[in-house]
Amino acid sequence: MNKNKQYRYVIIGAGMAGILAAIKLLDAGKKNVRVYEKADRIGGTWRENTYPGLTCDVPSHSYTYSFEPNPNWSRYLPPGSEVQAYFESVAAKYHLEDIISFNEEINSCQFIDNQWQIVTSLGHTDYADFVIAATGVLHHPRIPNIKGMDSFKGHIFHSARWDHSVKLDGQRIAVVGTGSTGVQIVTALADRAASLCHYQRTPQWIMPVINGEFSEAEKELFRTDAAALKRIQNDPELEANIERFSVAITEPDSAAMHEIENIVAQNLELSVSDPILRERLRPNYRAACKRLIYSEGFYSAVQKPNVEILIEGADTIEEYGIRSPDGTLREFDIIVLATGFEADRFMRPMAITGENGITLEQAWADRPTAYMSVSIPEFPNLFMLNGPNGPVGNFSLIEIAEQQWHYISQLMALVESGDYSKVSAKQSALNDFDAARVIAAKKSIFGSGCQSWYLDAQGVPATWPWTRAQFKEAMQRPDISAYNLS
Ligand code: NAP
Repeated sequence: MNKNKQYRYVIIGAGMAGILAAIKLLDAGKKNVRVYEKADRIGGTWRENTYPGLTCDVPSHSYTYSFEPNPNWSRYLPPGSEVQAYFESVAAKYHLEDIISFNEEINSCQFIDNQWQIVTSLGHTDYADFVIAATGVLHHPRIPNIKGMDSFKGHIFHSARWDHSVKLDGQRIAVVGTGSTGVQIVTALADRAASLCHYQRTPQWIMPVINGEFSEAEKELFRTDAAALKRIQNDPELEANIERFSVAITEPDSAAMHEIENIVAQNLELSVSDPILRERLRPNYRAACKRLIYSEGFYSAVQKPNVEILIEGADTIEEYGIRSPDGTLREFDIIVLATGFEADRFMRPMAITGENGITLEQAWADRPTAYMSVSIPEFPNLFMLNGPNGPVGNFSLIEIAEQQWHYISQLMALVESGDYSKVSAKQSALNDFDAARVIAAKKSIFGSGCQSWYLDAQGVPATWPWTRAQFKEAMQRPDISAYNLS
């Protein structure tokens, strides 16, 4: 035991959660912290997604670190570029550039002699006493295997790999996919494209929202009155609504869920006048089964004369466009694949090997899972932020990551005290947790009968299936009996 040891902390990824971990460690006086970032800039998902219309669907003042309020948010739901700028300003304020290795991906981590040995894409070997995996969830684009895709002579790209050199105005554009991304892109491009075809495999319920601007007077108030800024950041009405939403998704038969269903059904009824189009846009599954989409302008965008919702499938791509199964060829200049992400990757494809040679692939052979969403048995001193089984349903992932950090830091403190060398969840604790989680998850709205990225390979929602308040409670203090400490 060495109570004076200076521990080394390695953080994987400089997105929202990695920045959080780095700041928290520096604030706690840790001197030996290194962040590895595969790209040349911080920002994670907000760096990678730059598509037209990109908007955070969580209110700006909630999608903010609790310790770095931002009086300057322009809108209720902020544009993606503003979110990226916020993270860049926070990272600069804490001089994180001094501890981030950019353009350096971690290839492997192996737990040997109570330390993590790390090999990076630049061939460097590093070591860490603690590894914080802050790799994000949605960062491996899902590229569909559409026949003939390579033959297309126009521009084709995934929504998270937007090609900004391509002119959009006056072009014939196809958007494949109707998730949050596809809906935002179609809404943004309807006024710019000559023609816009939205290939909709599955319709979405749309929650109306008014994305109001904060006036100059409001922003000035937030800049000069810390109490006013705190009030908007912890707005009790918004808090109550989020909590109500969290109850709704865990109790599909609750009054709160029925209220959501009524609102989205009314929105469709009142916003779309053509009965044929309305039926095309009507989902046959329950609201919030897929991640609920908030949109101010989607229904009006799809009713513009140059916009078409197509339900016949984008089965074959040819040199000049997309051929439908009925033989019709529609010609396009641009095809956007808003087809989502491989949501079960987390730290993979990194090769991570824990104690006794167990690999992450082996540990996750059935499904990605972690005790309380943060710790994997036999992977000691490795913790995840926004890992598997966390709350993901329309909540601020910043809030979730901060709560997870509160929990993780207590586990690290057990080792930092010098009394132990390593800590990881017991297999029995994970088994019990996961058994209860799976039962509850199947009963949540996400398990009510639709396809979504929330489902694991076995069709079970991979999410935290209890309420947001219960998660907060669970993150207050680790149950030490659930951990192996030695
Ligand atoms: P997504 O929700 O997974 O949606 C992917 C869409 O592509 C679905 O409509 C899917 O259809 C369709 N699709 C996939 N493969 C297809 C194929 N071969 N042919 C036709 N359609 C195909 O992905 P996303 O829209 O990128 O959103 C992912 C998540 O990112 C969101 O749920 C949200 O958490 C996050 N996001 C957040 C914001 C924000 O504001 N914070 C904005 C954008 C995204 P099916 O439904 O039939 O599978």
